[in-house]
Amino acid sequence: MTDRYAVFGNPITHSKSPRIHAEFARQTGQDLSYEAILAPLDGFPAAVAAFRATGGRGANVTVPFKEQAFELASRRTERAEAAGAVNTLKFEGQEILGDNTDGAGLVADLTRNLGLDLAGRRILLLGAGGAARGVILPLLGAMPASLFIANRTADKALDLARRLAAAGPVEGGGFDALPGRQFDLVINATAASLAGELPPLPNDVFAPGALAYDMMYGQDTPFLAFARARGARVADGLGMLVEQAAEAFYLWRGVRPETAPVIALLRGA
Ligand code: NDP
Repeated sequence: MTDRYAVFGNPITHSKSPRIHAEFARQTGQDLSYEAILAPLDGFPAAVAAFRATGGRGANVTVPFKEQAFELASRRTERAEAAGAVNTLKFEGQEILGDNTDGAGLVADLTRNLGLDLAGRRILLLGAGGAARGVILPLLGAMPASLFIANRTADKALDLARRLAAAGPVEGGGFDALPGRQFDLVINATAASLAGELPPLPNDVFAPGALAYDMMYGQDTPFLAFARARGARVADGLGMLVEQAAEAFYLWRGVRPETAPVIALLRGA
């Protein structure tokens, strides 16, 4: 029987995950199906249970269910614990393994696809929501010189930095802490781009040769336009999306798919 996988979200119609996983399966010769499932806002656990009962082997989880997926997991990876959110579930008998592949996906995109060596770099992470939380530990694992988390609600960034202080040189604060500081990599993990807004950044936040990375994909954002106008290199989050999918595929199937052709395909190249 063909193994079933799915992505759960609400809304879910625009998800690129079914296409990405279909490409991975074709490329690696794996016999699996992957569908998008719209879970009711008050019915995520029931939707997952129904999927498991009909041959589901694993799932991706997107907005707004990543915290509920964290609760649903009977066992969690260290990176999922650190994120407080789960984007990948693997069903193993009675057990539900919860993982978070977003951070590994971001680091893979930065280092492999964009050729950035993160060691010794000064990183600025904008935002302290689910997306930001998921990438802190993997970023610190790449041995940067420093990681500053800036958030509109400064307390959230301070709390995160405090909680993960043992993992590396991490600090947190509000956007008002940024003037006078420069960074080699600035990652926008806020939801500001979704609203067509720009986080309040000082003009000189980008060090010479810096990369500006927006986790949002599919359109140019005020953040990327701001960065480009100040001489920074820019990248959107499409590579991260494909890389986090590859990491989930590997967890489920033990096979690592090629990501570059899938990124090119999605970019319409
Ligand atoms: P959350 O709702 O969990 O967090 C939102 C964050 O954005 C908070 O830190 C919030 O600050 C901040 N924020 C919201 N609006 C503004 C604004 N106008 N100015 C400044 N800060 C703002 O969202 P997520 O963390 O889940 O998602 C964030 C982004 O990351 C989305 O664009 C999402 O699409 C993207 N993403 C991309 C992925 C990929 O694979 N490429 C994977 C996961 C997410 P405060 O705490 O003050 O409210």
